[in-house]
Amino acid sequence: MSPYSCARDEFEGEASVYLDANENPYNAPYNRYPDPLQKALKEKIAALKGLRAEQIFLGNGSDESIDLAFRAFCEPRIDNVLAIAPTYGMYKVCADINDVAYREHSLDADFQFKAEDLLARCDEHTKLIFLCSPNNPTGNSLHSAEMLKVIENFQGLVMLDEAYIDFSSQDSFCSLLDKYPNLVIFQTFSKAWASAGLRLGMAFASPEIIAVYNKVKYPYNVNLQTQQLMLAHLQEPQRIQAWVEELIQQRSFLQQALAALSIVQHIYPSDANFLLVKVDDADALYQYLVAQGIIVRNRNRVRLCEGCLRITVGTADENAALMAAMQQFINL
Ligand SMILES: *Cc1c(COP(=O)(O)O)cnc(C)c1O
Repeated sequence: MSPYSCARDEFEGEASVYLDANENPYNAPYNRYPDPLQKALKEKIAALKGLRAEQIFLGNGSDESIDLAFRAFCEPRIDNVLAIAPTYGMYKVCADINDVAYREHSLDADFQFKAEDLLARCDEHTKLIFLCSPNNPTGNSLHSAEMLKVIENFQGLVMLDEAYIDFSSQDSFCSLLDKYPNLVIFQTFSKAWASAGLRLGMAFASPEIIAVYNKVKYPYNVNLQTQQLMLAHLQEPQRIQAWVEELIQQRSFLQQALAALSIVQHIYPSDANFLLVKVDDADALYQYLVAQGIIVRNRNRVRLCEGCLRITVGTADENAALMAAMQQFINL
């Protein structure tokens, strides 16, 4: 397959008169098509992550990178993919949309897995394995040694979702990309970078895999405003670092405050910007919090998360409001 060849692919330099793309000459800068390969952004991200621009794909959130993996690497109704469970819901949604069978390997009580057991679930049609570390909704990092065993022994691609890596005590696997050509890493601007509304996700992989992604994607998948705003945002990594440090501290305050409540049975260790909390009556507490205008995520119906709420770490004021409402619920 060859990708759609757009006017901006054919001519790349700077010019004073652009009459090649049937754009309207008015309403600058929005009249112009954006860079289809987001070169300026990729240079900045490459420098920040210690990667080369050719190892980077940018999409409309990580969700685009997840969906394109099915379209690019799986044959509908023939191939299958494997994922840990519980995990992020989009992998299964994309598998279903693309008519690719989705196999789940249940994590153990500590939300960990053994590479051997995971790999035993694969057959010759298993094209992708999805790992998520730190995992959502459990919050923990998966053991590096087991993830490495999967990457080293699986014949297909390992899709490692690092959406929460900035909040983690563990290192990113980015430095291993040159060593493992079957590794694809997803990161996002939606969490630590506080830009969920702009929709920008990153996939890091070998140049060969990135070239396949570029063939399958929409030509202008990242709009002009997102590219410009993120380019500016990337000039201030200290600001992001300060937010991350504050949220990690708030996570620890929130953890201590929750642990003191009678209705809290267990708080799972978190390497992310949320806590998975097991409580006495998750549905009743969830409904009470909604009535107080406080929305958390009810995970009571997710296997292995029975009785749990997933609580995002907010500002000090937001966390205090949550704690006050929970205390009121106890006093009812
Ligand atoms: C939030 C989240 C994402 C981010 O998705 P975007 O489409 O980039 O907003 C990706 N993976 C996981 C596991 C998440 O929890």
